[in-house]
Amino acid sequence: MAFTKKTVRDIDVAGKKVIMRVDFNVPLKDGVVTDDTRVRAAIPTIKYLKEQGAGIILMSHLGRPKGDGPEPALTLKPAADKLAELTGYDVQFCDDTYGEKAAAACAAVKPGDILVLENVRFLKAEKKNDPEVAKKLASYADIFVLDAFGTAHRAQGSVVGPAAYIPAVAGFLLEKEVDTLTGIFADPDRPFVAVVGGSKVSSKIGVLDHLIDSADTLIIGGGMAYTFFLAKGYSVGKSLQEPDWIERAGEMLKKAEAKGCQILLPIDNVCADHFGEDAEGVVFDSDKIPDDMMGMDIGPKTTELYCDAVKKAATVFWNGPMGVFEIDQFAKGTEAVARAIADSECTSIIGGGDSVAAINKFGLADKMSWISTGGGASMELVEGKALPGVEALLDA
Ligand code: ADP
Ligand code: MG
Repeated sequence: MAFTKKTVRDIDVAGKKVIMRVDFNVPLKDGVVTDDTRVRAAIPTIKYLKEQGAGIILMSHLGRPKGDGPEPALTLKPAADKLAELTGYDVQFCDDTYGEKAAAACAAVKPGDILVLENVRFLKAEKKNDPEVAKKLASYADIFVLDAFGTAHRAQGSVVGPAAYIPAVAGFLLEKEVDTLTGIFADPDRPFVAVVGGSKVSSKIGVLDHLIDSADTLIIGGGMAYTFFLAKGYSVGKSLQEPDWIERAGEMLKKAEAKGCQILLPIDNVCADHFGEDAEGVVFDSDKIPDDMMGMDIGPKTTELYCDAVKKAATVFWNGPMGVFEIDQFAKGTEAVARAIADSECTSIIGGGDSVAAINKFGLADKMSWISTGGGASMELVEGKALPGVEALLDA
């Protein structure tokens, strides 16, 4: 699906001042960025704007400040320093966002300059999309650019606000994320195989529901499989289960059948008598899980079945690990499926915080076609929802 909003390519930015919302919500340890993925992801748009001769003002949130007042542990300075280190550009930092100091720093921005403002969430009103916040941020620049895909699902002041006052367009990261994650519903190369796992059916029901509309095969793993087993009348012992969602799980199975989407559920499971590093894994077929055991990972027969399905795919979308991958002995199913996807020629699109963590843990990130930088935002797109940040931009 073509992106339907204007991007930085569609607007003249030369000699203009641009305020761009990025997602520099990076993990920090002792004031140092421990994973710079999100800073890297913003660089293509920053580079483009700089090369076009725009003056660039960057803003982001970081962590969860209590609001109304600076918190030294959550300053954006380390992210600004990381941007300078990664690009070699001179990057200015201003330890203010909404006050006179920030206004003066923004006023001094010249073409080609890069200025990073302090954490937008050091003011509570930002999260409520207060018009005063929006007006203030818009007053700093001629053009608003949204490239913070990870927060594009939040209708907050720095995400949607400035679009009401100055022309608002998308950056390259936002465009690519939306294009990729909506593309699997518009016109995927087939067969399109979706792999959904993780802990709960309740948190993924919208994802499953929408994927069934598009996928040729839907593979289900992880803790959510056990609620599906209950819908099929199996007993699941002490496995993770959501009794209130059995009926919805059953409806999903019926919907898939009606839509011609093949659903694959685990045929065997690695189980344990308790949840822990020291637990001993024992394999049981899905209709034979003992009352005193819980499913921790997909079993070897299932792993083979799932890997075969993935190998035949032209497009794979994956969200949610196949088992408790944080414990090595229960990470085998997740790792095998991840390797099958990585080794295949298919277009592979990965979304979701824990799935991305799993892929990084196995060192397979470079072999995937696209790894989404947004957890919540990617899930909302896959559920078929519109993102408020994107909605607020100018139509192409
Ligand atoms: P994502 O962040 O990729 O969307 P989720 O948050 O839905 O994924 O799920 C990830 C969690 O699911 C992991 O912490 C993992 O341990 C857990 N999980 C996977 N399989 C099981 C299982 N069989 N029993 C309990 N928890 C599970
Ligand atoms: Mg998660």
